[in-house]
Amino acid sequence: MSVLLNGIGVSKGIAIGQAYILYREQPEIPEHSIPDNLIKNEIKRFHKARKQAQKQLRDIQQKVADDIPQDISQFIETNLLMLEDPVLCDGTINQIEERKRNAEWALQAQCNRLVKVFEEMDDPYLKTRKDDIIHVVQRIQSCLMTDEPASPADEDMDHLKGRIIIADDLTPADTILMQHQKIAGFVTEYGGPLSHTAILARNLGIPAVIGVHNAQQLILASEWLIIDGDKGTIVANPDKKTLKHFKSLQKDEKSRKRNLFDLKNKKARTLDGIPITLNGNIDRPADIKILRQYDHTGVGLYRTEMLFIERDENPDEDEQYETYRRALRALKDHPLTIRTVDLGADKELSSTLQHGPLAHNPAMGLRAIRRCLKEPEQFLKQIRAILRAGAYGPVRMMIPMLSCLDELDQTLELINQAKNELTTSKKRFDPAVPVGAMIEVPSAALAAHHFAEKLDFLSIGTNDLIQYTLALDRIDDEVSHLYQPLNLSVLKLIDITLQAGRKNNIDVSLCGEMASDPKYTRLLLGMGLKNFSVQANTLLEIKHVINNSRIDKLSPKIRKLLSIPYPDQIEQKIIKLNNLKH
Ligand code: PEP
Ligand code: MG
Repeated sequence: MSVLLNGIGVSKGIAIGQAYILYREQPEIPEHSIPDNLIKNEIKRFHKARKQAQKQLRDIQQKVADDIPQDISQFIETNLLMLEDPVLCDGTINQIEERKRNAEWALQAQCNRLVKVFEEMDDPYLKTRKDDIIHVVQRIQSCLMTDEPASPADEDMDHLKGRIIIADDLTPADTILMQHQKIAGFVTEYGGPLSHTAILARNLGIPAVIGVHNAQQLILASEWLIIDGDKGTIVANPDKKTLKHFKSLQKDEKSRKRNLFDLKNKKARTLDGIPITLNGNIDRPADIKILRQYDHTGVGLYRTEMLFIERDENPDEDEQYETYRRALRALKDHPLTIRTVDLGADKELSSTLQHGPLAHNPAMGLRAIRRCLKEPEQFLKQIRAILRAGAYGPVRMMIPMLSCLDELDQTLELINQAKNELTTSKKRFDPAVPVGAMIEVPSAALAAHHFAEKLDFLSIGTNDLIQYTLALDRIDDEVSHLYQPLNLSVLKLIDITLQAGRKNNIDVSLCGEMASDPKYTRLLLGMGLKNFSVQANTLLEIKHVINNSRIDKLSPKIRKLLSIPYPDQIEQKIIKLNNLKH
């Protein structure tokens, strides 16, 4: 019998595949005694499993080596080192010999001992080493407990190919790794549409439905599934008719997307002749390859958090500089807008680098620029790296989450300090790198005019602007029904920011997810937006709408909408507008 489940569609597209349930809980560890004459064999078994685990990790490393983000490669390196760790290995062997128990039990006993020792340590860095140990032990355990011969690539990579992953939640790193594994789509029990994982899924073009509570219980392993990442539905065990219907939808979607490729490398220009800038959003230089599949354009938002997340040391200035230069080389003279790091809330550091207890309300806490200003030495490294990269191509520096002018002034002072330092150390840099701000906090939008006076450009971050205007957590699926881009207050804040840009004659772009949804393209054009920064895989679709719209016709109609206090009424009107020929 087929079952229909509902969640939140966060990344469009239809995926059809068998379910792969990603359990994170540990399997039960067997315990039995080993007679003296078999102790040596048991030790051999342990070493064999350890070697198998090593091979698995090396295979993963090799398979994704091409454009593997550094954070992931380091994560794998750390795990490989752990597999050689004498405390873990010799300790397990001692347990086998002394307690005369099987390798699984001995390994677990040694792991528990180590975890306890690490937990009692004061040093927060060492304390969190326990995560690596647990991870590595789980990998060896699964090698010990499966009888299959070592086939690591199958286990870790090909095994997931074409599957729909069902997980409680996925981290951004999981999501990237799984894209390499060519999964068909994913379903998670938690998370919100604006979580970084959801944004990544859209960016990587993986259909995804999230917020499906109990998905891991309701969906059976290996069961056939259809997920509709647009509507947020999951059909488990579909009948033949349903399967046929979705396969044909999938086919139509593919052919519609293929036709859009006629627009690749064509200008974005409205029917009444207004040129529109259409850039892409990236998380790492390797994403430029994906962007290039759709267009030769610049980057309006390079989120630099990936350089910092899931690793145990912050990147130094040179590593950052090299990374930005790599992105510039890939862009070949197209602009690169580097956003200074926005850590905190849904983009958290590896636990090793976190300081102090978790904030009660991280989205309102020490996030993004607030965190940078608290750690100016770290921040200066990134500023210097950006200024240095600026000597080699059109770089822009963008500051996230500014909520007041004091923060902006402090930031501008630090930028000046960085320039002086670079001059003193005779390092090559561009003193004229344009500096801009993300407008994503209502207080900044309302004061956009003052920000505009001091800056070279603004960029509206609707993901956060909506979160903070409507007081709802962008990653909490319980309130996602209230996450409403068409709320009049949100639209007014966007409008104020666009007006501030026009008045001060500076460029205003929009790089939040709203820019990547073709449903809102005509609305934004009518409001006067001339610069979109979007997810690579939506770029051609947005260009298609732009090239079939007339701003002169849209503007008066959109102005009238900006007084309607109900989002669904605005939505109805927008749907009508979108259905017009132009
Ligand atoms: C935004 O808030 O709209 C934005 C683009 O930034 P992020 O999603 O990275 O917070
Ligand atoms: Mg933001």
